[in-house]
Amino acid sequence: MEAPRSLCPSAPLYQGSRLLGIANEAGEVDILAQPLELNEGFVAAAQVGSPVGQRFRFVNKCVKSACQQWDGASQSCSVIKTVLDKIESTFWKEELVACGIRSSCRWYGQEGANACKVCPLVKYQY
Ligand code: SF4
Repeated sequence: MEAPRSLCPSAPLYQGSRLLGIANEAGEVDILAQPLELNEGFVAAAQVGSPVGQRFRFVNKCVKSACQQWDGASQSCSVIKTVLDKIESTFWKEELVACGIRSSCRWYGQEGANACKVCPLVKYQY
């Protein structure tokens, strides 16, 4: 059972990662209603071509201080705070997408619904 707010919604593709979203033609990310388990074939194929983070979003455990994005002073993830600061609210989504990890999502736990309004606009840079 996942601990509350234990999931990172912008994790790299590594062991245990599940597919959370797929980039669409508009340059945003379609968040899946439920994350999908990945098989070896997907992982191998995803490494080919343009950077995987530009095409997919993954969810995995939040590793807190083991992640360079972790803000030790506030004991929180700096990524979603930065995203909310940088993206003007006029671009935020009005509706929250159906998302199967909301009860365990680090970003939602920190920022509430605002996190979900910008979440589809975020791509992992790698
Ligand atoms: S921020 Fe919201 S939409 Fe994005 S993964 Fe977390 S709960 Fe889902």
